[in-house]
Order: sequence, then C-alpha cells, then structure tokens
Amino acid sequence: MTTVREIQDGFEKKMLSAYGGRRSPYEPTSHWASNIGHPCRYYLWARWKKWEEFPRPDDYLLGVFAQGRDGERLVIQDLMKAGYDVTEQEKSYRDDTVRVSGRIDLRLSSELIRRYVEENSDFSVPRYWGIPTEIKNVNSHSYDEMTGGFRFMFRSFRPWVRKYPMQALGYGKLIGEPFVAMIIRDKNSRQTHLLIERVSDYKTEIKQCRERLLYVNSCLDTGATPEPMDYDHIWCHRCDAWSLCPQSSTPRGKNLEILNDEMTERFRELNAIAEAAKPHVSAQTRARKEIREALEKMERLPANVGERVITAGTSLVIEATRNRRGVFVKINDKGGEDALSTEE
Ligand code: SF4
Repeated sequence: MTTVREIQDGFEKKMLSAYGGRRSPYEPTSHWASNIGHPCRYYLWARWKKWEEFPRPDDYLLGVFAQGRDGERLVIQDLMKAGYDVTEQEKSYRDDTVRVSGRIDLRLSSELIRRYVEENSDFSVPRYWGIPTEIKNVNSHSYDEMTGGFRFMFRSFRPWVRKYPMQALGYGKLIGEPFVAMIIRDKNSRQTHLLIERVSDYKTEIKQCRERLLYVNSCLDTGATPEPMDYDHIWCHRCDAWSLCPQSSTPRGKNLEILNDEMTERFRELNAIAEAAKPHVSAQTRARKEIREALEKMERLPANVGERVITAGTSLVIEATRNRRGVFVKINDKGGEDALSTEE
C-alpha cells in the first residue's frame, strides 16, 4: 500500500535534484579563494591532498549553497533595477604564483563609485571599469556583524565570516585592484549593505595569507605534511577536516595542561565520590517525581499561597509551583527527620 512517507521521500529527492548541487568531490588544482582566509596550514594542505576523504556535502549544505546562488541572482536583479552597472558576472580568476583560483561575483559601478576610486587612489579608472564585488547572503546576526567592515569580520567568532574578507581581498590582489567591495544581504529582511574596502589597508593580513599559501604549496611539492595549528576553539571546534587531523588523536591539544600526579589523584577521589552518590541522586529524583505526580493529580495545590505552595509536616516543607508546563517541586528538609529518605 502506498504511504505518505513514500510520497514525501519522492518529493524530497525530486526537489533536491531540481535545485542541483555537486555532491561528488573533485580533485583540486588550486586553492579555492573562499578558503584562503583559513589560518591552518594543515587544513589548506588537507583540502588539496586528502580531498577524497573530506565529508561529502549533505542535503542541508547543498540547500545552503543553492540558496546562496538564488540570493546572488536576486541581488544582481535588484542592483540593475536600482541603476547600477553590473559587469563580469562570475568571471574566473587564477593566480599560479600562489595557486589560487576563484570566481568573482561581479564588477559594480556607478558614476559615484568611479569618482570615489579616482579621488582616493592613483588608479586611473577606465570608462567601463567596475569595482570587484563579492555578494554574501547571510542571516541577521552575521549581517549586523559584517556591516561593521572587514576588521570586524576578521575577529568574528563565526569561522566562515572570518574567511570572507580574505576571499574579497584575494580577488583584489589577484587582479591588482586598489579597492574591493562586498554586498551583504540579510536574507530574512532583504536589507542590503555595501562595503568598499581599500586593499592596501590589509597589507599584513594579505602578507600572512600569501606566506601561508606558499608554505603549503612547498609542502605539496616536496611531499611534506604541514603541522596543524594549535587547537583553536573557533576553527577546530567544527572543522570538517577534524577526522583527518592529527589534533583528533591528541585530544589534549598542545596548549592544555597535563595533570600532575596530585591533581590526578584528587580528581580520581572526587570521581569516586560522585559515582558513590549516584544511587542517592536517582532515589531523590524518583521521590521528587512521586511527589510531583501526586501534586499534579490535585485540582489545586494544597495550602495555596499565590502561585507558591507551602505544605508542611513539622519537619518537611514542600515548595511547589505550578505553571503551564506542570508542577515543580523543591523539598526543604528544615531540621527534623528526613521524611524522604534517599536511601535505596
Ligand atoms: S582541526 Fe584545527 S588544526 Fe586540524 S585541520 Fe582543522 S583547523 Fe587545522
């Protein structure tokens, strides 16, 4: 018999193939511009050398990519409607000295943009020149952060945001442009912000990136393996190369303390105490549950005082509050006998 589940499965698969996406990996011949802002040499090396072992993008990620492409198309439509000149969409660039390639989203131009670049650089702006521009469709939290500019993005706690500026600056450097732009769109509200950044303001970051890439390239040529960076919560925490990385077999990480004997012994003792207390904790939980169930069956909590209930024997005070989610119980043994013994 046909089930709804079968229909749903067929529907999901058809929709997935409709928005497309490449699930199968392919051997890289360059570093992707979107990755060059990654600070870990091992990661950049693994992306190239161990490409077959990286996890394949799942349905969620393919959907995110597709949404990004759709978002870009919408932004371009809006730019044109707003009267901006948009040229060189999706044009590929490649720099073999650092082995980086990528596709710039578009070149953006207007009278005002051209005048600004002319006034603020010694670049003589050709008639149909546009500023190399990267489009980013992001959620509202990232939007607020990113509109602060590249300096803020470099310090973001979102690793993907940290990589964005170097992607744009990389294009600027590859093509030899004095300025790059980023159009940031909040995909919820469609608010759109334009950043224009001077490439030479980020000399240090670009130099570090270049050195990193040259080092990784030399490892690729000589067969050496770069060291992973020290464990970094931002980058390593959800790194898609984690299972390939030597960090995963040294869980202490390089920066963490090794416990001395005294601390190890104390932790062992504390752990034994915690283990021994377990049955009491579960007995206490069971006892509380029983009281709560009894209270929940009552129309009104006994001895109602506003929302808080205090009902008591001489030695035991039960404080219970009831809200839409049920009854919450706190038991205070005020001296006297422990009427709710936690013994098994
Ligand atoms: S887990 Fe950390 S050290 Fe290892 S590849 Fe990823 S970023 Fe680099």
